[in-house]
Amino acid sequence: MKQLVLASGNPGKLREFAALLAQFDFDVLPQSVFNVPEADEPHCTFVENALAKARHASQLTNLPALADDSGICISALGGAPGVYSARFACEGNEPKSDLRNNAKMIAQLAGVTDRRAHYVAVLVLLRCADDPQPIIAQGEWHGEIVDTPRGDSGFGYDPHFYLPELKMTAAELAPAAKNRISHRGKALAQLIAMLRQDTAI
Ligand code: IMP
Repeated sequence: MKQLVLASGNPGKLREFAALLAQFDFDVLPQSVFNVPEADEPHCTFVENALAKARHASQLTNLPALADDSGICISALGGAPGVYSARFACEGNEPKSDLRNNAKMIAQLAGVTDRRAHYVAVLVLLRCADDPQPIIAQGEWHGEIVDTPRGDSGFGYDPHFYLPELKMTAAELAPAAKNRISHRGKALAQLIAMLRQDTAI
């Protein structure tokens, strides 16, 4: 099997990517196995941050690398919090908190009627650190922000992310159902389709 390094320390992501990439003969290993420290994410776009993380992991391991970046973009806030979704409500070195992020989002939307929002997930796979043609997959998931949280599945902004066609929030969806239709699910399906066509990996 070919080794592929995952530029993340999240065990859930590792399980998900390992299961999906086994069909391409990839043994997916977290970057911690190679003592790769977390990369900086200094950019204002998801794709640049995912690329920076993948390149950092590939440079330090000499292996192909996969990275993801995701977040929520709220129309009335000009796309914020975007790449800052995880640390939206953080002051200084404060730890991240979903509750505080959600409270800040709802406060900023007080009196705002345009409630459109979408999640974005970007995946970048580099065959080598200086790969001139990274494989880039992207998924979006559109919904509306509601003031009152509903459901206790999912994480992050899910209790406030309402799907009008399903009449429920993302946190009311069972995990498997969410994975089928979410931004991450769509990006993963696109990555798989791209890998099936790629002869250079
Ligand atoms: P990361 O790309 O895993 O670091 O996620 C960035 C942040 O975006 C998370 O900490 C959440 O705040 C938000 N986010 C990304 N995907 C989701 C999701 O599926 N549900 C809820 N929040 C999400």
